[in-house]
Amino acid sequence: MIVGAGVAGASAAATLRAEGFDGEVLLVGDEPDAPYERPPLSKAWLSGQAPSIEVHPPEFYADQSIELLTGTRVTGLDAAARRVVVGGSAVGYDALLVATGGQARRLRGMAGERVHHLRTRADSDRLRAQLVPGERLVVLGAGFVGCEVAATARSLGVDVTVLEMAGSPLERALGPEIGGVFAGIHRDAGVDLRCGVRVDAVSAADSGPVVHTDRGTVECSVLLVAAGMVRDTGIWEAAGVPCDDGVLVDAGCRTGVPGVFAAGDVAAHDHPRYGRTRVEHHDSAVRQGAIAAQAMLGRDVVHDQPHWFWSDQYVHTVQSCGAPGVAVDETVVRGRIDEASFVRFGLRDGRVVSVLGLGRPREVMAGRKLLLGGHPVSADQLRDESVDLRRAGVRR
Ligand SMILES: Cc1cc2nc3c(=O)[nH]c(=O)nc-3n(C[C@H](O)[C@H](O)[C@H](O)COP(=O)(O)OP(=O)(O)OC[C@H]3O[C@@H](n4cnc5c(N)ncnc54)[C@H](O)[C@@H]3O)c2cc1C
Repeated sequence: MIVGAGVAGASAAATLRAEGFDGEVLLVGDEPDAPYERPPLSKAWLSGQAPSIEVHPPEFYADQSIELLTGTRVTGLDAAARRVVVGGSAVGYDALLVATGGQARRLRGMAGERVHHLRTRADSDRLRAQLVPGERLVVLGAGFVGCEVAATARSLGVDVTVLEMAGSPLERALGPEIGGVFAGIHRDAGVDLRCGVRVDAVSAADSGPVVHTDRGTVECSVLLVAAGMVRDTGIWEAAGVPCDDGVLVDAGCRTGVPGVFAAGDVAAHDHPRYGRTRVEHHDSAVRQGAIAAQAMLGRDVVHDQPHWFWSDQYVHTVQSCGAPGVAVDETVVRGRIDEASFVRFGLRDGRVVSVLGLGRPREVMAGRKLLLGGHPVSADQLRDESVDLRRAGVRR
């Protein structure tokens, strides 16, 4: 049984079948939709440019004999008896995958017809209906979702103000220097970006929400609270599944409770390269779902791929391989950070351990191969733009 019909759950269900499992597969999700991809919700789906975001075509589930129960919430677990409560009834399982992701963080007192959060397709559809030219959007929080929505809203002709407590956008994930580059990108696109601002409260006026900050009030007609994600581990914790910042799993997505596994945004995974980490990346959710499925079949597997994420804002794509905060001996920049065209490599013991690029997808992919290969490479080769990175580190 798989609880949570997001990409981790969908990946696990497909992998069970691809690995030849011919028993029952039940995929239970509380949203009304079949599994879909969330990254477009702040980008192409929000702007109306993505025709579809489903992970699999509708017939996939019947073709693969995967029973998909949508609009149904799992509310309890008895791990000793191997039973979960599905829509009020107890249902047995041989192996259980927890792939329940998370929800958008809600801040007290911030609700109403023109106040939004963004996690689900329904959230994106509701927001899209209000993002029309002439509207004034305020985004609280310049993390990835906040920045992506700001960019999409600008492309739809909406006035955008972004309020961020840190000194620059994306600072927590990418640091102040690259955050400063994104500040320039957003301001050049006409976003009124205000950093170092603390939001105290939101009230409602006839014209729309009013945001009260330590630097005065900001009026708008549409408000997006983009304050990150929270995961709900209450059901699993109550059943004795060890949880901390998420459901604790080993490198193979096993919880330690017999028959219970976890994957995706809800899982705090013991990664062989980075130690215990819970990431919120599409790629990790898909990969962990696949690894968990193999572990459910009793295979001796580990998820050891480097973390990978991307974010699209305007014409700019930032991509990261490895963990941006991983310890390094040396940082090497190829290209120009101030021109928003660069790849930044982290080196440890002369080997690439992290790659972060903006506007350089081919070089990021070459850097990813260097990271995966684990061969020694010289900083000079990485820095020198005349060196083809596909040949860097190769002894001649
Ligand atoms: C707007 C947005 C943009 C993003 N953009 C990017 C991007 O550009 N790049 C990137 O790498 N990542 C991006 N992400 C992150 C990425 O989408 C997530 O990492 C990924 O969706 C996690 O998948 P998951 O299957 O673990 O969890 P989820 O996608 O959250 O799916 C979990 C599902 O389980 C359901 N569920 C929860 N509890 C229960 C229960 N008790 N019973 C039944 N069902 C339950 C939930 O409702 C949900 O449908 C973005 C996320 C958002 C929200």
